[in-house]
Amino acid sequence: MSLLVVGSVALDCVQTPQGSVRDSLGGSATYFSVSARLFSRVGMVAVVGRDFPEEHVQFLRSRGVDLSGMERREGKTFRWHGRYGQDLNDAKTLKTELNVFDAFRPSLPAAYRESQYLFLANIDPDLQVSVLEQVNGPRLVACDTMNYWIVSKPEALKRVLKRVHLFLANEAEAKQLAQEHNLLKAARALVRMGPSIVIIKRGEYGALLFKDEAVFWAPAYPLEAILDPTGAGDSFAGGFMGYLSARGTLGERDLRRALIYGSIMASFCVEDFGLGRLGSVRRHEIRERYALFRSLTRF
Ligand code: AMP
Repeated sequence: MSLLVVGSVALDCVQTPQGSVRDSLGGSATYFSVSARLFSRVGMVAVVGRDFPEEHVQFLRSRGVDLSGMERREGKTFRWHGRYGQDLNDAKTLKTELNVFDAFRPSLPAAYRESQYLFLANIDPDLQVSVLEQVNGPRLVACDTMNYWIVSKPEALKRVLKRVHLFLANEAEAKQLAQEHNLLKAARALVRMGPSIVIIKRGEYGALLFKDEAVFWAPAYPLEAILDPTGAGDSFAGGFMGYLSARGTLGERDLRRALIYGSIMASFCVEDFGLGRLGSVRRHEIRERYALFRSLTRF
């Protein structure tokens, strides 16, 4: 397996100004892999409970996601209840039920241990470390998190940051973790915590990549209607990491293009609730948006 993700597989209840869904397939590992599989083979380390519908397993398999690292355990699947107001960049968590994730200690299948690209998606930082420790010399390790873990496990999160090459966060999380109000200062503070590359996602305002003294910005793809921003960050990471692992090189040009592919995949994600749009994206649609991005930013 060249690309591996550990993260949540969830049943989400989401309300946005445009509508709501109950118990829809979600989770950070889910959005990541459904996005990344359009670029590269992707394996998933996660756990679900006995209540996890078989149709979701079939859906993930049908999308080509390798599920040999997904365990089914006694108990209930992880559940997240969230709400968005008019500011779609600001998710309010109403309830988080860790359920089977509480006691999950994964043991990676042998084929996963040689993965070159590893994404530690939003999940308990202790779990992120336990997966990282089982992979032999990965080329690129990236991680994400959210305010839930910044508040409840800051020290464990800082231990993860010491061991990754790349950290992705949204603007509010980056500022909260770095304890800085200015974005540039926040990015520099995060680099001092360990990762040499920091990506700060700014929702409809695009994403910034910081590496050494260089900064690169990718706009968000302009859309008229955003139905549900859930999973945008993970879809972004899936496009970014999926492209890099398919490409196999990590030069500045690769990172810049990866940022554009991240923006493209996030744009598909937010066009419908859950995986409604992302789950059916075709490669030619990615190519079309890539061409549009080019004309959008050429001057
Ligand atoms: P994103 O919108 O990309 O930040 O991620 C949304 C996904 O994160 C949802 O599908 C949730 O199931 C999942 N999620 C929410 N809270 C947590 C948490 N504390 N740990 C792991 N995953 C979470």
